[in-house]
Amino acid sequence: DTASAVNALIGRRIRQDVQSMHAYAIQDSKGMVKLDAMENPHRLPADLQEALGKRLGALAFNRYPDGRVNDLRQALATYAGMPQGFDLMLGNGSDELISLLAMACDVPVQPGQAKPAILAPLPGFVMYAMSAQLQGLDFIGVPLTADFELDVPAMVQAITEQQPAIVYLAYPNNPTANLWDEADMVRVVAAAKAAGSIVAIDEAYQPFSSRTYLDVIRANPADNSHVLLMRTLSKFGLAGVRLGYMMGPTALVAQVDKVRPPYNISVLNYECALFALEHADVFAAQAADLRAQRSRLLAALRALPGVKAWDSDANMVLIRLEGAGEPAQKVFDGMKARGVLVKNVSKMHPLLAQCLRLTVGTADENTRMLKALQESL
Ligand code: PMP
Repeated sequence: DTASAVNALIGRRIRQDVQSMHAYAIQDSKGMVKLDAMENPHRLPADLQEALGKRLGALAFNRYPDGRVNDLRQALATYAGMPQGFDLMLGNGSDELISLLAMACDVPVQPGQAKPAILAPLPGFVMYAMSAQLQGLDFIGVPLTADFELDVPAMVQAITEQQPAIVYLAYPNNPTANLWDEADMVRVVAAAKAAGSIVAIDEAYQPFSSRTYLDVIRANPADNSHVLLMRTLSKFGLAGVRLGYMMGPTALVAQVDKVRPPYNISVLNYECALFALEHADVFAAQAADLRAQRSRLLAALRALPGVKAWDSDANMVLIRLEGAGEPAQKVFDGMKARGVLVKNVSKMHPLLAQCLRLTVGTADENTRMLKALQESL
């Protein structure tokens, strides 16, 4: 019958590792206070919704999008303060850029040579490992220290010995929400240069961060000629639009850009992103509100007995349930039963035992989240 024919086809033609992998799980959040995915909780103000609607209605949907997307790339370069000698490419979210970079770095190897690998500190963003797996590259995870700093000797050793194609550094990191010590970053970036690796610094959480590595790159371009820097409009307030960008030395970006599907940025993504940049002040005010909410949330969390809350440079707070009581899953379930969805990261990595990741929401959402947490402890 049809089902068994399809199964036979899958068995023969779909990669074994794909067959045994789990699809990226997106939690069902209908009707919940949604604090699981570091979204900006604020919508566009009503007057801007109307103005954007008019612009979207007037788009030439009958045409393919402009492949080079020059206006938007220029606007992003200006917004980010792109350094001299850099260019910028666009992805359908930075998720796509992470996949494209792995594709571009998958060079054929001679017998006896090691496969190119992707290296990243752990715990970290899952897409780095996933892009490696899907591309058939090795993934090397180097544990952070117990206080979530880079383990510089371990990183330098792994990079020097294994010479990975790509070293990912999420700055700030997800799910630990912290920025790493800048001098540590510089040492790891230097080790990667010596090993002939590309470094991809992922600044997805830049709107909430007190530092950017772009300042280091600008001050020292020669030491950073192997560095790519990724950003996204997702945490800025456009998670639904899907627009990521990657900046780096022009010649290097041009190579990765060849792997990009020609029309990956739809006219809708394009117009929404351009519109958002024209109103960057509105989004900056929303980010400022969320940073203030983050301070309030941290203070409230630290007042709860048995809860450890780490400092954050992102729109999330990592907490550990240190009281003798409930396992993280029970607290997560308790919060969910009270209508609040967060992320249980306690099984992701041994360093995250008993940890939950809370996205910073509106004042009202944070109040509801704190109440649900307290009642579930
Ligand atoms: N990088 C990091 C560190 C992230 O945490 C995320 C999303 N959670 C992304 C990239 C993906 O962002 P985008 O929505 O642009 O694909």
